Amino acid sequence: MKNIKFEYAFFVSYIIIGGLWILFSDLVLYSFFDDANLLSKAQTYKGWFYVLVTAVFFYFVLKKHLDKLRTAEQEAIKSDKLKTAFLQNISHEIRTPMNGIVGFADLLGEEDLSKEQRAEFLKIIARNSNQLLGIINDVLDVSLIETGNILAKESEVNINELLTELLDTFKPIIKPTLKMELQLALTDADSTILVDEVKLKQVLVNLLDNANKYTEEGFIEFGYQKKQTNLEFYVRDSGIGIETAKMEDIFERFVQASSEPKVLKRGVGLGLAICEGNVRILGGQLWVESEQGKGSAFYFTIPYKSIVSVL
Ligand code: ADP
Repeated sequence: MKNIKFEYAFFVSYIIIGGLWILFSDLVLYSFFDDANLLSKAQTYKGWFYVLVTAVFFYFVLKKHLDKLRTAEQEAIKSDKLKTAFLQNISHEIRTPMNGIVGFADLLGEEDLSKEQRAEFLKIIARNSNQLLGIINDVLDVSLIETGNILAKESEVNINELLTELLDTFKPIIKPTLKMELQLALTDADSTILVDEVKLKQVLVNLLDNANKYTEEGFIEFGYQKKQTNLEFYVRDSGIGIETAKMEDIFERFVQASSEPKVLKRGVGLGLAICEGNVRILGGQLWVESEQGKGSAFYFTIPYKSIVSVL
C-alpha cells in the first residue's frame, strides 16, 4: 500500500467514491420522490451537496500534503544554504593550512637556511597539518555519528584526573586575558566511572575550545555535579554569548551563530553537532544557556556508573 503513489490512490478513490455516490444517491432519491419536478430539484441539491463535500475534502487533503511539501522545501532550502556556507567556509579552512604547508615545505628546500629557521618552518608545517587533520576528523566524525553506527566503548575512567589533565592542557594555551577554574564534586575515590573516555574528552575539549574561541576576557569555568543518577558537566564562559533565536540551531551541522566576520572565528560549524552526537552515544543530553554579551554555559549529562556501586 505504501508503494502506491498518493496521486494514483487519490484518483482511484475519487472515481470509486464518486461512482458509488451517483449510483446509490440516485437510487435513494428515486425511492423518495415520484414527482419529476421534485426529483430534478433534489438532484440539483444533491449535486451541490456533492460539490461542497468534495471541495472541503480536497481542501483538507491537499492542504495536508502541500503543507508537508512546503515544510520539506523550506528544509531543503535551509540545508542547501547551510551546505553552501559550509563549503565556502571549509574550503577557506582547508586552503589556509594547505598554503602554509606547501609554502613552508618549498622554503625548506632552500640551501642557505639556518638550523633555527628550518626548525621554525617544520613547526609551522606540523601546526598546519594538525589543523588540517582536525577538520578532516570533524567531517569524518559527523558523518559516522549520522549513520548511527558508533557505540560507546566503556572503560574505567577517573573523571577527576581527566578534568585536571584538561585544566593543565588548556591553561597554557588559553588567552592570557582569561582565568580558568575547575570544580570537582566527588572525591577522587568516587570519581572513577564507566564511560567512553575518548568521547567524553572530545566533548569537553570541544566545549573548552569554543569557550576560549568566543571569550575575549573574563573566565572559563568547568566541572561537574552529581545530580541523582547522572553527572552533569558544565563549561561556562564570560564571552560573547549567543542570540536566543540561534540557541537551538547551533547544535545542527554547519551552523555558526554569528555571521559577523569579526566574530566568525576559525571552525566549520561541526564542533557542537559532534558534541551533541557524542553525548547522545554516552546516554546523556547536551544543552546551552546563554545571554548575548554576557556569556554562555554549556551543560551535558552522562549516567553516573560508579565503579564503587558496580563492584
Ligand atoms: P564552530 O565553532 O566551528 O563555528 P561549533 O559547532 O563548535 O562550530 O559552534 C557553532 C556556533 O555556536 C559557533 O559558530 C558560535 O557562533 C556558537 N558558539 C559555540 N560555543 C560558543 C560559546 N562558548 N560562546 C559563544 N558562542 C558559541
